[in-house]
Parts: sequence; C-alpha cells; structure tokens
Amino acid sequence: MASLRLLSTDFDGTLIGPSGEGCPEALAQILVEHHRQGGLWAVNTGRGLEHILEGLEDFSAPVIPDYLLVNERAIYRREGELWESHEEWNRTCRKRHDELNGLAGGFFGWVKEMADASDHTITIVYEDELPAGLITSDENMMEEVVLRVAEAARDVPGFAFQRNSIYMRFCHRDYHKGSSLRELCRMENLSPEEVFAVGDHFNDTSMLDGTHAGMTACPANAIEAVKETVRRAGGYLSEASWAHGVAEALRYYERRTSGRESTCA
Ligand SMILES: [Mg+2]
Repeated sequence: MASLRLLSTDFDGTLIGPSGEGCPEALAQILVEHHRQGGLWAVNTGRGLEHILEGLEDFSAPVIPDYLLVNERAIYRREGELWESHEEWNRTCRKRHDELNGLAGGFFGWVKEMADASDHTITIVYEDELPAGLITSDENMMEEVVLRVAEAARDVPGFAFQRNSIYMRFCHRDYHKGSSLRELCRMENLSPEEVFAVGDHFNDTSMLDGTHAGMTACPANAIEAVKETVRRAGGYLSEASWAHGVAEALRYYERRTSGRESTCA
C-alpha cells in the first residue's frame, strides 16, 4: 500500500461537530506528524474562503492546511500567509458556471416562484444577483425540494446540485468535491492510492466513492448514504464521531500502510 500523502477532509460535521469543539489531541498529533513527513492537507468544504478561514481559526488545528477547496469547487493554495487562487482551474470553473447560469433563466424563475410560495420554508441564496442555491427550514423540506429541483432542472444541460443537510448549492455537474480533489492530485502528481478522504454528508460522496481517493472514511455521525458509499469503496467506517472519528480512521490507515510496508521490506 502506498504511503498517505494527501488528506482531503470535509470540515462541518467531519472535523467539527455541533458543539464546535476544537481539534482533539489525537488528531492534532496525527496532523503534526503528517506535516512533518511532508504530507499535504486539504480542507475540502462547501464553505466559502472567508467562512472556512474563520472556522479553521476556531478549530485551532496545530498546522495550517496546504490547500482549501471551497464552495465544493474552487481551489486555493497556501502561499505563506496568503491563499492563492489556482486560476487555471478556478477561471474555467467560473466560465462553466457563467454558461450554466445563462441556460438556467427559466429554472431560476421557477425557483423564485417555489420559494415565494413556500411560506418562508425555502430561502434562496443569491450570488451576483443570481440564485446560487437555497436553504430549507428542515431536512424533510430539503428531501421534497431535492425531488422538485431535479425534475425542474431536467432540461438545463449540465445542471446539478450539491446537498449538505438543509443547504443546496446549484452547480455544473463536472464541479464537485471529487473533481476538485482530482485536480489537486493532478497538480501534486498523486495517485488515488496516496490519498485519504473523509466526509459526512451528501456533498462528500463524490470524493468518497474510491475514484479519487484510495483511502476513504466517514465518522460515526455520517449519514447512511455516505456510510454506504464508503462501504462500497472498501473504506473505513469509524466508531467515533467527528474529528475523533477522523483520527480513528487515520490511525487505521497508518497501521495498514506501515504493516504492508514492513511485510514488503
Ligand atoms: Mg460535512
């Protein structure tokens, strides 16, 4: 088994739980050791850049990530104190979404009508004056919205969405956590066997299906769809929740990696 060179970790519901607890000691030790050995860490999140930087400050990890993959599609690389846009990818990403938005006028009109008729149980999130996604009052409402949006957007070429709890982000189907991770691996010349990915919700499944990360995991609090994805990929389902579960999974893969290496030696 190849060594673990890149960690791709979701943030909300994976590194931090509802109590907002900071980085536990067990995970802190692993991150420090991984960093010391030259390993890379990418936080692969649905949050925007400013929002994840705030979250990371509260999380107080002992090392700073090397990459932030934000909004489930844009890539930023750490350059000292700064976060530099990976423009080759981000520019194309923006262009594809501009094209998608140009095709989605009718769908956006339908979304506004749906939200207006929802008695405040559906709220549209706007970016640059266009609907970028929506928030529902609870998960049951989101279940219903998922079906309605999938039906209404059927005729918009390339349209997809990312779902995370009560949040939905509209996107081009080629851009998600999995494709962002694939691009990061291309940049760093890494094969899937060298990559670990962990997440807890629907928007994580594209990086947990075994395609882009050979070592996959989910904390115990992950939703069933994620557990099933990780199970099918031959990954590790932690018994512990949130960051404690991430540490547990990383220890598991460390044991497997070192065990195989010592066997081969
Ligand atoms: Mg999450």
